Amino acid sequence: MKLTIISPDLYTYGSMLIGGVLKDAGFDVTLTRNLSADTDVVLLSLYSTLHLMDDRIRDFVSQNSNSKTIYVGGPISAYPDIVLGELDADAVVIGEGEESTLELLNSGISEDISGIAFRSGDEIIRTQPEPAKLERPMPLIPDDIRDQDIRGANTYIETHRGCIGACGFCQVPKFFGNRIRSRDIEDIVQEIKEFKRHGVERIAISGGTSSLYQYERSTDVNAFIELLQAIAEVMGNKNVSVPDLRVDYVNEDILHAIRDYTMGWVYYGIESGSDKILKDMRKGVNSEDNIHAIELARECGVKVAGSFIVGYPTETVQDYELTKNLIEDALLDDIFISIAEPIPETNLADIVLKTDDPENPTFIEHTGEYNILNLTESEARCFDLELHSEMCKSMPNILTDQMYQAYLEDARQQGSDVRAVTRLLQKYRGNEDCIS
Ligand code: SF4
Repeated sequence: MKLTIISPDLYTYGSMLIGGVLKDAGFDVTLTRNLSADTDVVLLSLYSTLHLMDDRIRDFVSQNSNSKTIYVGGPISAYPDIVLGELDADAVVIGEGEESTLELLNSGISEDISGIAFRSGDEIIRTQPEPAKLERPMPLIPDDIRDQDIRGANTYIETHRGCIGACGFCQVPKFFGNRIRSRDIEDIVQEIKEFKRHGVERIAISGGTSSLYQYERSTDVNAFIELLQAIAEVMGNKNVSVPDLRVDYVNEDILHAIRDYTMGWVYYGIESGSDKILKDMRKGVNSEDNIHAIELARECGVKVAGSFIVGYPTETVQDYELTKNLIEDALLDDIFISIAEPIPETNLADIVLKTDDPENPTFIEHTGEYNILNLTESEARCFDLELHSEMCKSMPNILTDQMYQAYLEDARQQGSDVRAVTRLLQKYRGNEDCIS
């Protein structure tokens, strides 16, 4: 059977993985970043809630739903009722889709297949997903993968699934579970060699918190260090990055390995300077832990980037000021700011649904310092923190008009995206009741 996998705008690891599984099973698979297909069967791999409101994707589905069979998978499959409510797709493959997608393509929609959702009259039938096996064939790697840039890397690779954390804004624990399942180091290295053969020059390790690799077998971090060393031997240490680490899962050995076998940066999800907000976020760490991890990385010769979230529904002006203070004190090497986005089915989404618009910073009109800019409170905090960050980095920047405008535009765009996601959530509030 011929089929097309569409991964809009970028080849995600998941889309390449499914492509490899299907190709190995004998399907004639084309993987593309464009919204076009000349096959009768299409798998749409979607990774952002915003995809459900993207006119290009909506138009593609509505124009092809009568003539093609369209299945949707990817991270947005965690909320299949919303996907099926927004897109006229035939079915959604929920969660880890390697095995369900194969079954679906081989035998068609059926309640006997685990991990799918589909319409049946007015009802949505949803079957329970099962964790997939981690042994698999090589991903389907497109020849133009070298053109893509995801935070500096051509691609991410997966070393394990699951996260022991419970951060309220994150969908990893729900999607992959709390139990860590790691791939064999030999499989990972073979896969990296294949990516390199296809022109990949820079690779990033994904998987929630990278240092949890092999955590299910031992809390000893040697396996993670060996992994970094093995990847660096293939790619060269300056071409490997470890994007995300929890501050409570680093130590000197890990940081030295990051210094020696990667480009030498850690990326911590610090999120907030307020312990109350960190608690509301269910981060499982406090500001002292964050500061300790930043200092430890610096002592080990590793550069530190931190990401922050503003506009959590419970964040007060005082909480926000604590975040500003932390950024001032920490002198980070790079800083990323996001407005809290309530991904459906996360704890944050529950909090947002229980928060009336007049109490939610996403909708509250900002009346302070930036009132002439017509921003919401979340947008104003995002903009203010972005400006503040530039002056508080280890190498401070002088703020130019161009930077000011770019940050203003970014804050407005983020605010608009989060409002759209919140409205979508509100539209489907209570719909879970009609799912069997
Ligand atoms: S530690 Fe990272 S991957 Fe794990 S739940 Fe928190 S944000 Fe998600």
